[in-house]
Amino acid sequence: MPIKTHWSLVGIMLARVMTVCIAIHASAQLHLPPQGYRSTVLSVEGKSVTCSSAGKPVTWVANYGLTDVGFTKASQLVFAGLSSLEIQYNPKTLLSMPGDLQLFWLGHECGHAYQQTTDEDAADCWSAKTGVKQGWFTLADFAQLSADMQNNPGDSTHAPGSERIVHIQKCMGQPDSNSNQFCPTLQNYIQQASKEFISLRGERKKPKPELTNDRWEASDVLPGAHQCTVWGRDQLLSAKVGCLYTKDSTETVDSLETKVEFCVKDLGFSSKKDAKGNFSFAVQDDADSKPTIDVRDTGDNILSVAVNEAEATWEAWSKNH
Ligand SMILES: [Zn+2]
Repeated sequence: MPIKTHWSLVGIMLARVMTVCIAIHASAQLHLPPQGYRSTVLSVEGKSVTCSSAGKPVTWVANYGLTDVGFTKASQLVFAGLSSLEIQYNPKTLLSMPGDLQLFWLGHECGHAYQQTTDEDAADCWSAKTGVKQGWFTLADFAQLSADMQNNPGDSTHAPGSERIVHIQKCMGQPDSNSNQFCPTLQNYIQQASKEFISLRGERKKPKPELTNDRWEASDVLPGAHQCTVWGRDQLLSAKVGCLYTKDSTETVDSLETKVEFCVKDLGFSSKKDAKGNFSFAVQDDADSKPTIDVRDTGDNILSVAVNEAEATWEAWSKNH
């Protein structure tokens, strides 16, 4: 699923955001489109942002004339007619914000279009949830957004920033989308690593001639993965559970890395990126005795998230076998 983001930014708020963030991104080399430029895809920090409404693509229209808002009121356009659905945005305002907040606000506008609603809370909520699910809206982004919105007084159609933030926070915690299962599932994998992931073993998979270790379907699947497999240990390989994702406009190595980071940061894991752009997570001072997590592009448009049992656990076992 593409990033379905549509945004109608709030004037006062955007002005504030812009002021706050200009310094941070002043050095970014940005390609500003000409006035009136129309496109169904926006590029934000290397991500392609598209939005749809009722199954039809929404057109982004660059408009530097938007004053303090950054984006036009999408709500008016959304219902103007689905044949010409468009969202206006101010590229300069947009690009003055940190990348993930650009996505959040574009997501807000897309939330109006996608859900076909003028409700501001629904648009905020949709954007935040989509961002969490797709990996570009993290706790750090939420903290930044909170700081930017805190003193926004709101206007006739928008609640004060402080109220919106409370609503967004509530909404992110609501268990109505499977994205909220990502962290519990991953954390369960990590917990089961010390027990060879035995409790996660589902149906046994047929052995492959070239593989020596046993494999099972995982009984608990990371949301969005098309399959997860539990691998038994042998003398050559440690036990692990690995989940495969299709690489598309939604999932990249980076989006998965962000998602994983969001879930394991508090457990002491930090990630390292290798030359190929793959990530490995480990607990810094305790790398051998703690599980590790890999986020990799395996080629053929397949990405993998794998939790490996701790090196020390596996070595202790292999000494006795
Ligand atoms: Zn709105």
